[in-house]
This record gives sequence, structure tokens and C-alpha cells, in this order.
Amino acid sequence: MAQHPEDHFKNVIAHAKEYGYIFPSSEIYDGLSAVYDYGQNGAELKKNIRDYWWKAMVQLNENIVGIDAAIFMHPTTWKASGHVDAFNDPLIDNKDSKKRYRADVLVEDYVAKIEGKIEKEVEKAAKRFGESFDKEQFLTTNARVIEYKERGEAILKRLGKSLGNNDLADVKALIEELEIADPDTGSRNWTEVKQFNLMFGTKIGSTAESAMDLYLRPETAQGIFVNFLNVQKSGRMKIPFGIAQTGKAFRNEIVARQFIFRMREFEQMEMQFFIKPGTQKEWYEHWKETRLKWHHSLGLGVENYRFHDHEKLAHYADAACDIEFKFPFGFKELEGIHSRTDFDLGSHEKFSGRKLQYFDPETQESYVPYVLETSIGLDRMFLAVFSNSLQEETLEDGSSRTVLRLPAILAPVKVAVFPLVKKDGLPEVAKKIIDDLKFDFNVVYDEKDAVGRRYRRQDAAGTPFCITVDHQTLEDQTVTIRHRDSMQQERLPIDELRAKIAAAVDLKTWLK
Ligand code: ATP
Repeated sequence: MAQHPEDHFKNVIAHAKEYGYIFPSSEIYDGLSAVYDYGQNGAELKKNIRDYWWKAMVQLNENIVGIDAAIFMHPTTWKASGHVDAFNDPLIDNKDSKKRYRADVLVEDYVAKIEGKIEKEVEKAAKRFGESFDKEQFLTTNARVIEYKERGEAILKRLGKSLGNNDLADVKALIEELEIADPDTGSRNWTEVKQFNLMFGTKIGSTAESAMDLYLRPETAQGIFVNFLNVQKSGRMKIPFGIAQTGKAFRNEIVARQFIFRMREFEQMEMQFFIKPGTQKEWYEHWKETRLKWHHSLGLGVENYRFHDHEKLAHYADAACDIEFKFPFGFKELEGIHSRTDFDLGSHEKFSGRKLQYFDPETQESYVPYVLETSIGLDRMFLAVFSNSLQEETLEDGSSRTVLRLPAILAPVKVAVFPLVKKDGLPEVAKKIIDDLKFDFNVVYDEKDAVGRRYRRQDAAGTPFCITVDHQTLEDQTVTIRHRDSMQQERLPIDELRAKIAAAVDLKTWLK
């Protein structure tokens, strides 16, 4: 059943709460803006996504190792990285509504609306032309579509240029020229555009005199850069090699209204790949392709991903793009792939006075390596998986069911085991099955309500398999196993259950 995207997003948020995935932080005190807690199922799903990333990036790559650096870092780190001076977002306030916005996002949303018009034209044309419709041809030849496309590109180009030159007056001028209004109230009474630093400050030390100003890290990458030589030497790593890490990052985001898409405390999964200067173009292409494949492996639909090249390159990059995902509110950044040159290591050399170079045993030369970064938000990935999986289906008999079609490899609970009834020794058999399976899989037991209702409960929670123990089990040691997605049931001997479930959550099959 197709739902309006806004309704779908509301359902996602409500469902995440109802089924123990995500709760607002400190909810009994009315919550904390843009901060969320993961519940019993959410913590498992998040861990499974993290593991899926870690295994693909670290375990399956001989030349990539993982670390776990501290959140606190010496404050000079953030001078060297450029965050103290340049980690800003342009903000703008509406004088009437007193609401605050990111100026760049207002413009980007305007362009997204133009893109929406293109999609509408495509839909209309597809209907008109039927089978013979050639989308590629239509996109490149239809005059109206071309005009929309050029208009969007021109706007983004100008935005990129003015942000790059820190020409905030022009960003404001652009907002005025496009007649962009406050999305909430329609007012066009805007303040000037200002820069706002996103880092959270805190202090370390017990007395006022000895306390030192610190920042909560706004990205995990710097923990990798400052450990580059430690890892390279202790691991005898040869270029090209990578260092990966997952962990919390903190950003005082100006606007945070999209659930876990934009949080003030979030988790990143980053990998810095150290390479020889001059080889960055090849590695950039390599990692773009590799990361997209990883996303596709989860089966959320290849049409839901696209690359978006950056117009405005960050201070450290010579090429950068995002992998965007079709969230309930449209295509948005899920992961960034950045060619960071020798900016970070070079800058840490300057600020620390230490050499951060690699000695190439073949050429007998030392150099500061270049870096390719892949950086993905774990929470954003969670939202991508969760929002894509939540579906409202109409069944053949006309009834509807809510099903959370999580990829089995990521599902928090793999199996639910039910006794058909609460007597005749069936619960005992069910519990025995659980005791046997629980070493390999996350398993739950449920004996409440009719079996049909128990199935629906597990469908909505995302559990891929339900096993029912009935009276026949007592005679022949077989059970029914029911599949979440197809709702098909089959009868299997108890001792074949492990292999059946293991095959569905076999990492090799998923990642190959
Ligand atoms: P955006 O443009 O959306 O603010 P960004 O370009 O600043 O993101 P990066 O600095 O490239 O993001 O961070 C890498 C990844 O970290 C992003 O692709 C995203 O998945 C995740 N991320 C960044 N900021 C947040 C946030 N506030 N909440 C959740 N995830 C985030």
C-alpha cells in the first residue's frame, strides 16, 4: 500500500518507539532536542549494522585494521584539522517566526523541489508513452526537464561558489532572489546569514586555573590521523593501507528536525585509506564503487541510491561525493567519500612538530601519504534500513499487515519460538529449542495470544522466522517454520533448524 511520504515518516517514528527501537532521550523530562536513545531492539539492529560494516571493511580486507580512539583529544587537534576556524554552517533566522535555519539547506530544499517537478514530468510521460517510454532519452531531450535541470544546477553552483568564498551576503541575496520563504510560516523576513561553529566545548581538569578547554570530537577521523604512525609502525603496515573506526561524534547542529537523520550526538563509521600521492583518482573510484556495492548487498533496492558530487569542496578535499539514499523525505546524504589529499597529516605535522611520513622501502623515499576517506553515519544507516523496511501490506483476503522487512542479517531477533498452546508439554519443547539455538542466534519465546497474532507481532518487530511447536512435534520431532516476508510455512525436523536459519544469515552469502 503506497503511503504519503510524510505519513510514512510519522509511522516510522511511531513504530520505532512502539517496538523498542528508538526512544526520545530523557523522555520523562520531555526529551532533549536531536538526541535519541536506542531501545532493546534498536541497540541490536545498530550493533548488527556496525558489525556488517566492520566485517566488510576490516575483517575482509587484509590491509585495513580497526582502532578505537578516545572521544577527547588534545585541543590542538582541532586547530590542525581546521575545525576551530572552518567547521561552520551558515545560519539564517526568520525575524517573524523567530525560527532558525541553515541557509544552504533552504536553498538545497528549493532545488529538491525543482527535482521533484522533474520526477513528476517523468511519471506523466511514462503514463503517456506506456511500454515504449525511454526514461534516459526523455531526461536528455525534453525541453521542460532540461530547463528544470539547468536551473537547479545553476543555483547549486552559485551556492557552492558563494559558500566557498565565504560570501554570505550572496547566500542571502540568493535566498531573496529565489523568494524562499520560511517553510513553517511563509514569511520572507530574513536576517543576514552568519557562520556558526558546530563543535561542543567542555573542560578537563579539577580546578579553575588548571582546567583546559576541550571539544567533544565532531568526527572520528582525527583519532585515526593522530595515530597514523603508531598503527603503521606497530602493525608494519605497507601503503596502501587503511585504518577504520566506529564511534560517537558530536555536532551542535543548527536545525535538527529529522529524527535520527540529524542528531547532536551520533555515531560514525569511518575509514581512512592511506595512499601514495598521485594515486588518489583511482582509489577514489575504487572506494566509490566498493561502498556502493556494500549498500546494494543489503537489498534495499538499487534505485534508492545515487551519487551526488560536491559542488563546494571542503577545505581538505580535492574530490568528494555523497552516496545519497531515498529517505522518506527524499534523497539525502547517507555516506561521504572524500579525497582528502595530504591535508590532515600535513597539518598535524605542522602543528605538532612531529614527522608523520611513510618510508617507502622500494623507492627509499619518505612522503606524507594522501588519504581517501569513507564516512558513514551509523544512525543515518539505521534510518535508511528501518524506513525502507517498514511496509504496510494488503493481503489477498483484503486485510492488512504491518511488516518490518529488515534484511535478515541485520534483524535484532532472528527467530521467535512459540508453543501452539500453553500446555501438553509444548512450552517445554519450545524452550528446549531456544536453549539449543540461543548460542548461535538471538531468539525469543512467545506464548501469549493466538498464533496468528504472535506472527503479526513478530512481523512488525522485524523477526524473519517464527517456529511453532504443536502436537505433531511430540510425535515426530518436526515443527513449522514460517517466513516473515512470504508468510510461507514449511515443516522441518528440529535438528535441521540451525542450518536453515544459519543459511539465511550467512555473511558470506550477503557480502559476496
Ligand atoms: P550534512 O551535510 O548532512 O550535515 P556532512 O557532510 O557534514 O553531513 P560528514 O561530515 O561528511 O557529513 O559526515 C559523514 C557522515 O556522518 C554523513 O554522511 C552522515 O551519514 C553522518 N552525519 C553527519 N552529521 C550527522 C548528524 N548530525 N547526525 C547523524 N549523522 C550525521
